[in-house]
Amino acid sequence: MLIPLIASGFFFAQQKDDAMVFSKISGQILNHGEAYEELRDLTKNVGHRLSGSAAYEKATQWALQQLKNAGADKVWLQPVKVPVWIRGKESLHIKTANGQWQTVNMLSLGNSEGTNGKDLTGDIILVKTIEEFNALPESAVKGKIVFFNYPFRQDFIQTFEGYGDIGKYRSTTASLVAKKGGKAVIIRSLSSATDDAPHTGAMKYEDGTEKIPAVAIGPRGADNLAKLIQTQKVTAKLNSNCGMKGEVMSNSVIGEITGNKDQKVIVVGGHLDSWDVGEGAQDDGAGIVQSIEVLRTFKKLGVKNNHTIRAVLFANEENGNRGGETYASNLDTSKEPHLFAIESDAGGYSPRGFFLEMNPEKSAQIKSWKPLFEPYGVYNIVDSYSGTDIRPMKKHNVALVGLMPDSQRYFDLHHSASDIFEAVNRRELLLGASAMTQLIYMIDKYWE
Ligand SMILES: [Zn+2]
Repeated sequence: MLIPLIASGFFFAQQKDDAMVFSKISGQILNHGEAYEELRDLTKNVGHRLSGSAAYEKATQWALQQLKNAGADKVWLQPVKVPVWIRGKESLHIKTANGQWQTVNMLSLGNSEGTNGKDLTGDIILVKTIEEFNALPESAVKGKIVFFNYPFRQDFIQTFEGYGDIGKYRSTTASLVAKKGGKAVIIRSLSSATDDAPHTGAMKYEDGTEKIPAVAIGPRGADNLAKLIQTQKVTAKLNSNCGMKGEVMSNSVIGEITGNKDQKVIVVGGHLDSWDVGEGAQDDGAGIVQSIEVLRTFKKLGVKNNHTIRAVLFANEENGNRGGETYASNLDTSKEPHLFAIESDAGGYSPRGFFLEMNPEKSAQIKSWKPLFEPYGVYNIVDSYSGTDIRPMKKHNVALVGLMPDSQRYFDLHHSASDIFEAVNRRELLLGASAMTQLIYMIDKYWE
């Protein structure tokens, strides 16, 4: 019975060592982390940065400089072809039975086509669900503007489940309406808030369907409109200029600290692009500055990393995911070995756990490290979907992890004008960076 005793003694000694390093990482980041000020700089001096825009190009230059400042041994740009979508001027008005026009806060959905600057007018019909819409005869939809008032479900504790539940209302309804001869679609925003901020986000037209305009209105505007339609005829006047304008070459931004033992790669990342409203602070400026903080912390603490630790700041997550797809498909030819990838794209809120997407043995090993993370409020380590940018690496059998922050407030502001720097808390942001650094430290130490 000697062997298990020695083995467990060895295990506890190691756990003590690791706990000490965890404490050093956390102390370094909470006391000296630069991610918060870096996020202020990105959000206030670059601002929102949709792929294909001049602001996005400015963000890539900013990111190269930050990665150098953080101590990366090597930085470079990875070319990515991205779609260009322009919003332009837009407005939505509704007219009630008394003949008065009211302005409704709205945002066209990303990737949608507009009205070419002409007024599109039509009566609005209200449905709550897609099932209810599907039951309508074509004659009820033809020539109408359809309003989907499906609310963000409040009963899910993990709000990403609510987002998953409501997602199809943004992505699919325009083509459903077009197929029955409808003129345009209005959706209630994919928002967990009760304010009037509209939330944009990507939609998609089915091949072969007419590309009718698709817009989102805020939760309060949606409540108001639904109430009006129940008692009277409501006409809408939509005017917008959005649309797809081809493709351009752009870049993801990459920086790494070289492995001391081998060149196997550990990726840490987020997406550098954002929607064209607000400042892209929680989505996903937070993930960008946290990823840079990971490199900075390894350098500052002088932790000798065995493997290469690479920050990848992906292009075009929001309206195409070309950055993530390109990074993964480049591995087809480069054959560069990748051990692990972690992404932060769920907001810079207090970290609560990790979403693991990997084989059961690796997943079990990470779960066995839970006692080390618990003092930092990180306790929820579960098998789940990891993240959009890193997901394409799954075909290369890379073990994938998504940082899981507290999700209660993310969908109050996601893709809206409310996603600004002031919505981010310094300590919460830095705790997220700390949890990522701690996990990468463990992977780097124990995985071959
Ligand atoms: Zn995001």
